[in-house]
Amino acid sequence: MLDLALYIIPTPLGNTDDFTLRAIKILQQINFIAAEDTRHSKPLITPINSNLQWISAHEHNENQAAEEIIKILQSHQSVALISDAGTPAISDPGAKIVAKVRQAGFRIIPLPGACAAVTALSAAGLANHLNSRFLFYGFLPTKNQQRLEILNSLKTASTLNLELNQAIIFYESPHRIAETLQNLVEIFGRQNRSLTIARELSKIFEQIVTLKINEVLQWFESDKNHQKGEFVLILSADETEKFSEKNSEKNSEKNSQNLVENNFENDLNKAFAFKFLAEFQKHQPKELNLPPSKLCSLIAKITNVSKKDLYDYLINL
Ligand code: SAM
Repeated sequence: MLDLALYIIPTPLGNTDDFTLRAIKILQQINFIAAEDTRHSKPLITPINSNLQWISAHEHNENQAAEEIIKILQSHQSVALISDAGTPAISDPGAKIVAKVRQAGFRIIPLPGACAAVTALSAAGLANHLNSRFLFYGFLPTKNQQRLEILNSLKTASTLNLELNQAIIFYESPHRIAETLQNLVEIFGRQNRSLTIARELSKIFEQIVTLKINEVLQWFESDKNHQKGEFVLILSADETEKFSEKNSEKNSEKNSQNLVENNFENDLNKAFAFKFLAEFQKHQPKELNLPPSKLCSLIAKITNVSKKDLYDYLINL
């Protein structure tokens, strides 16, 4: 007996053996299924359960689909949510439905399973690089100018902040792969980065290559087949030495050393300022006779020690 919930069910990216046993078991027990494209998914799902009632849940009707799903849940029946391939709501419809169903008080049960980004990442071999951080960007905009602006801001962010010097994962379709590769080379071509191109994952013509960023276009144009299929692109972090982990460890050691040295200098400066203040107070000529507050601001200006610290010291003399 299934717990009452909306089940988020990943479907294979290509190889139908990638359905998990748990996904199959749930699909066998459930009565309702919401799908991005019912015509696309019926041939895959019907052999598992031919009695399902189908709900259409694509990017243009998510609110309406959510209402329909909530009504079914209110009648104490669970629903499965699938997209055309991979995990729903990952560069696919589903997120709005999930939010609305949760808001209505119903449980969401997500199943682990196929996802092109994670599958490609696991084969990119980036974990031994500088770090294992990554940013999932998904699809870049369709307009060339917007794509360039986004890539430029990703580059600026990673240059200004070491923590953001990380691998970036993009999705791309065969229609725009040529332009996107050109854009990536244009923006990141002078950096020390590699690009993993994973195409047709889990399908007959699966191909995964890792190239230096400036070798990408040559590889792409060298064979018409390289331009076919669905793509995951993983741009590595900048591998220049100044960004390396070892170097950032060295930097942080250096920073702590600097901190110790700076603290020592500050303490020395303070000790000198206190001594100066005490001596000035003791020996100042009668005709000058500076009041404590004025004396402290004067010495604060000369030594850069805070007036408050000087004043506290003076009144405790
Ligand atoms: N929800 C899916 C997931 O979990 O990965 C992604 C759906 S998105 C609409 C489709 C994009 O995912 C494709 O354009 C491609 O970038 C990537 N993709 C899907 N299947 C793939 C495959 N077999 N090989 C490489 N990339 C794939």
